[in-house]
Amino acid sequence: MYSDLIKFIRDWYETKAAIALHEPRFKEIDRQYVLDAIDSTFVSSVGEYVGRFEQQLARYLGAKYCVATVNGTAALEVALKLAGVQKGDEVITQALTFVATANAISYNNAVPVFIDVNRETLGLCPDALEKFLDETAIKKNRETFNKNTGRKIAAIVPMHTFGHPCKMEQIMQLANHWNIGVVEDAAEALGSKILSKHCATFGRLGVLSFNGNKTITCGGGGAIITDDKDLAQRARHLTTTAKLNHKWEFSHDEIGYNYRLPNLNAALACAQLGQLDGILGDKRKLAYSYETFFKTREWGQFFTQPQGCTSNYWLNTLITPDQKQRDDLLKITNESGIMTRPAWQLMSDLPMYKNFATDNLKNARWLAKRLVNLPSSVRINA
Ligand SMILES: *Cc1c(COP(=O)(O)O)cnc(C)c1O
Repeated sequence: MYSDLIKFIRDWYETKAAIALHEPRFKEIDRQYVLDAIDSTFVSSVGEYVGRFEQQLARYLGAKYCVATVNGTAALEVALKLAGVQKGDEVITQALTFVATANAISYNNAVPVFIDVNRETLGLCPDALEKFLDETAIKKNRETFNKNTGRKIAAIVPMHTFGHPCKMEQIMQLANHWNIGVVEDAAEALGSKILSKHCATFGRLGVLSFNGNKTITCGGGGAIITDDKDLAQRARHLTTTAKLNHKWEFSHDEIGYNYRLPNLNAALACAQLGQLDGILGDKRKLAYSYETFFKTREWGQFFTQPQGCTSNYWLNTLITPDQKQRDDLLKITNESGIMTRPAWQLMSDLPMYKNFATDNLKNARWLAKRLVNLPSSVRINA
């Protein structure tokens, strides 16, 4: 069992060595850009690569503004603050996500609420969101509060799981109806689109990550995306210690953060961004091969992009028929040196988040028992 899956993956990567879940691909140009940043001596948060990366990324996404940060988690933390999240507020997100989504809410001293995902997107379920708001929310002076807890519901954070876009149109409609700001966690979804609109550009703010395991990487890095000039200015100010612009005076007007992307990382980010379309193309080829491979076997359903969407296929995903088959697959592949991985533990099952509000999490629980991530790196020499 699964020996031809192992053969398929080994043939694809043309190696007998261990195969990781997601590795970066670097070429000569990456090396050149990094060396150039070193030679310039501008390696920290001042330097021309930072601005260049921000402009190129904004242009690529069709967004007005981009502020580059040290990582995606920091971007999310600041984006939530800019969306108006304050101490004691509630922030709605999905239970099936990476822990950074929930942590960024906690860093703002806000309270996460974990809502279900749907099986068509693996992301925040608009029907579950609507039900939660209808049953729980009340509007007061254009703001929305939770009737049961009295807390303000200050933001909604949909996350595009493994690069598959959430149903943003419905989520935005609900958010607009209740006048709640949306911060998109698009950390996994660089290059993913709904029709021709990029993930990270639907909400008031969107967030990306360039960690080593993401679609493109600059070691560590993130970005805040927005079309709102004031929010972009605030993001830039807050992530650079809230320092007032002056040639020699050192003055700060609030408690800011040291979260700006260093120029050394930005150099690598520029080089990688230039290769993004090629990387996305190679990832689609792999996803298509997996899809074809699994079609003729009864090992579950290979998860494909939702209708009307272009997914970046950051992590390829198989939905196995049941937990037993998932566990067998995980064991056999990992013991053969091929890394596969189950879903993250649901946020509401983690010790620090187990006492927070949830809905029934029907789909999240169903998926968490069945889902397997498959090796998804682009081939090093492709
Ligand atoms: C990777 C990731 C982040 C955080 O990004 P870092 O750059 O690693 O801090 C946030 N949310 C999700 C869903 C992610 O996958």
